[in-house]
Amino acid sequence: MRDITKIIIHCSATPHGRDVRAATIRRWHTAPPPVGRGWADIGYHFVICLDGTVENGRPLEKMGAHAANHNAYSVGICMVGGGTGGDAIGRYTPAQWQSLATLVAELEARFSGATVIGHRQVESHKTCPNFDVPAWRAGGMAPLADHVLEATA
Ligand SMILES: [Zn+2]
Repeated sequence: MRDITKIIIHCSATPHGRDVRAATIRRWHTAPPPVGRGWADIGYHFVICLDGTVENGRPLEKMGAHAANHNAYSVGICMVGGGTGGDAIGRYTPAQWQSLATLVAELEARFSGATVIGHRQVESHKTCPNFDVPAWRAGGMAPLADHVLEATA
């Protein structure tokens, strides 16, 4: 197993409420340019869907492709949604918040000492994951009030 020292949270930067699955993101990442990125596999290790399902992406043993210069020793988690555009406020379902907290706790238990950060903390020109990961951590990984997507169905 790789040494894992960072757990990095992302968003898919897709419209709020749009159901996107790991298989779709895998296509975006593996299709040849200009349609996709032409990568060997999906860039993330986990995808957290709107209904809270945690789908597997790239195997954890394999280096991902999600944070420039930080892939070798990190795990990439993608929250579906987050909105589009540079000023988007990421909103996620209660089920997503619950699954994120559970997954991060599991990964922290497995990779003790790993730090949990948002993508924008290592790539300052990005806004991903469109919420403040340190604030979320400081709040005990409870959903951030301004970032909850209520069910519309
Ligand atoms: Zn990201």
